[in-house]
Amino acid sequence: MTSSDPTIRTLRRALGHVERYVEGLQRDPVGPQLTTAELRTRLSVDWSGAGVDPERVIDELVAATDGGLIRSSGGRFFAWVIGGSLPSALAADWLISTWDQNAVLSACGPAVAVAEEIAGEWLKQALELPREASFAFTTGCQLAHFVGLAAGRQAVLGRVGWDLEECGLSAAPRTRLLISDLRHRSVDRAIKYLGFGRRDVVLLPTNSAGQIERPEFIRALEAERTPTIVVLNAGDINVAAIDCFAELIPRARAQGAWVHVDGAFGLIACASRSKRSLLAGIAEADSWATDAHKWLNVPFDCGMVFVRDRDAHRGAMSIRADYIQASTDAHDAIDWTPEWSRRARGVVVYAALRELGRDGLERLVDSCCAHARELVERIGSLPTAEVLQLPTLNQGLVRFLDPRPGAHPGDHDRRTETVIAAINATGEAFFSPTTWQQCRAMRVSVVNWRTSREDLVRAVCACEQALKQPTASGGNS
Ligand SMILES: *Cc1c(COP(=O)(O)O)cnc(C)c1O
Repeated sequence: MTSSDPTIRTLRRALGHVERYVEGLQRDPVGPQLTTAELRTRLSVDWSGAGVDPERVIDELVAATDGGLIRSSGGRFFAWVIGGSLPSALAADWLISTWDQNAVLSACGPAVAVAEEIAGEWLKQALELPREASFAFTTGCQLAHFVGLAAGRQAVLGRVGWDLEECGLSAAPRTRLLISDLRHRSVDRAIKYLGFGRRDVVLLPTNSAGQIERPEFIRALEAERTPTIVVLNAGDINVAAIDCFAELIPRARAQGAWVHVDGAFGLIACASRSKRSLLAGIAEADSWATDAHKWLNVPFDCGMVFVRDRDAHRGAMSIRADYIQASTDAHDAIDWTPEWSRRARGVVVYAALRELGRDGLERLVDSCCAHARELVERIGSLPTAEVLQLPTLNQGLVRFLDPRPGAHPGDHDRRTETVIAAINATGEAFFSPTTWQQCRAMRVSVVNWRTSREDLVRAVCACEQALKQPTASGGNS
């Protein structure tokens, strides 16, 4: 069945490639097989002359990238915190590209504005965030931090009588940022975008569980009476460390500080009744940043921010112009996001939440946590392996010891690196390294609906196989 419309013919072509890709997730290597130079050679075709047929473009693109993709959409990818794509989320992503609505204003796309509005409300319910909170869909958690912290900046300066919008930052009272020393660097970046410097930041020390120490926190909070923003962790990247919200947030707010939470993946755990107690008190914060493209398993390009004080949020983002047709009864994204023209990414979240239902969302969280724990325990029980951190949520750490007598910490670090590379080279699983409390470690991160028990068995076998690699030695290598 061929269509006369080139768009339909090309999409059918792409669908054929999608079928092969998805079926290959069980079979094909998880990690990339080609070097950057090889990929550059393949993709650097001559395009200076006439254009080519769109179906051929797609065929050649698929051929040229084959071997250079990371199969993070499959179930045996455990590096960083990446997440897969639920079927309806991927399909909805195709649809919003097809519809090509400019989701800046309800006037430019009424249906997608309503779908985004409902997705935002569903998430507040699922995560048990305050009903009055406003929300925005951003490109990711990076920009969600930017929005939450911009609202906070405006609010804390407003509390000391400084009109930021009118008077700007250059002569404003100094604003301090109290931040966990285990923060994700996207927080530093958001701070930089907002015109703060490193001198405005106070890094708070964390304990062996990765949580901010309470006495240090209170000391820092009380050290200066100046507008203050606090940033806490709901799941750091290495061990999913969660700060003691119930203790810290009320203290900070009593002092007039704004509390922002980095919950890039951890906030999603609020959807699980069995995990929610780990995050007790989180709903008392002022703003929360998270991602849909991680644990909610939608394709990339989707973060979210929630802000308790809607006026602060709107005040920090909104703008008016004569040609903007503002809506009186719909969610205009321009009031809540830093972008102007934007894709209707919240529609993808609508689809994912509808597919999962509240029960399915809870099951997704719980099964990723159970899989992470099982994987860390099983890898940790292999010869010369050591568990550094059992997952409390969906992130854990293991390392591989150099078995030679008298091996030094540096030897264990090198052995860990070698084994991770060897596991990834099997093509059966993919992990990434990190440094945790001075040790090189292998991160075990489970954030994909596709990960199954069979995937865990295959990943453990890959580790076993990699451990048979000889130990590099200074003397006889
Ligand atoms: C991934 C991540 C971020 C950054 O999120 P993006 O969606 O990549 O912008 C921030 N904080 C934590 C804890 C993360 O894991």
